[in-house]
Amino acid sequence: INYQLAHFVASYGKASQIPPSTCPEVSFVGRSNVGKSSIMNKLFGRKGLVKVSSTPGKTSNVNFFEADGVHFVDLPGYGFARRSKAERERWARLIGDFFDLDRSFNLVVSLVDIRHDPSALDHQMIEFLQAGEFPFVVALTKADKLSRGKQNQQLAAIRKQLNVPAEDIIVTSSETGLGIDKLKERIAAACL
Ligand code: GDP
Repeated sequence: INYQLAHFVASYGKASQIPPSTCPEVSFVGRSNVGKSSIMNKLFGRKGLVKVSSTPGKTSNVNFFEADGVHFVDLPGYGFARRSKAERERWARLIGDFFDLDRSFNLVVSLVDIRHDPSALDHQMIEFLQAGEFPFVVALTKADKLSRGKQNQQLAAIRKQLNVPAEDIIVTSSETGLGIDKLKERIAAACL
């Protein structure tokens, strides 16, 4: 996949507005502020393509990007504390409806901050993906904020808590580029 060809396609506020899949799709989910925009920009090699949230938790849309015949789907982040009940419900409906669509779910990249135990919402998200048998990988974000020893400790702990096989969890940093090639390999394999 030539990521340099990445460009914005469209933004949707409702799952029902999203046209049927026309190519392989890779979706990104995670708590707001987990580093989702940063990792997508790192993949694309473009700093500002995916908007890095200056106002974390601002309810957002489903944003589609395309690179070399693959769609990259930026799903709205969850778990922002100051979000209203109505916004949380909107998020749940949007995500639920999105995964209910009959589409090409080649890979879901589920982002979890390596520094913390997964939140209840992280658990729910991953249990949802497991129950629905969606192909997914967990990308642990912001690894540069921990020492190597601490990274490995957290990797083992989080893997156990989330009950994910070792090959489906990748330690990443958008700051240093750690794990980005591994993530690209997984994406390429899922989009063949
Ligand atoms: P999003 O809300 O999930 O899209 O998260 P962002 O990509 O906007 O990142 C949230 C904050 O974390 C920003 O201040 C980023 O600069 C920072 N951040 C994201 N990824 C990394 C990383 O790999 N390392 C470090 N040190 N900071 C990161």
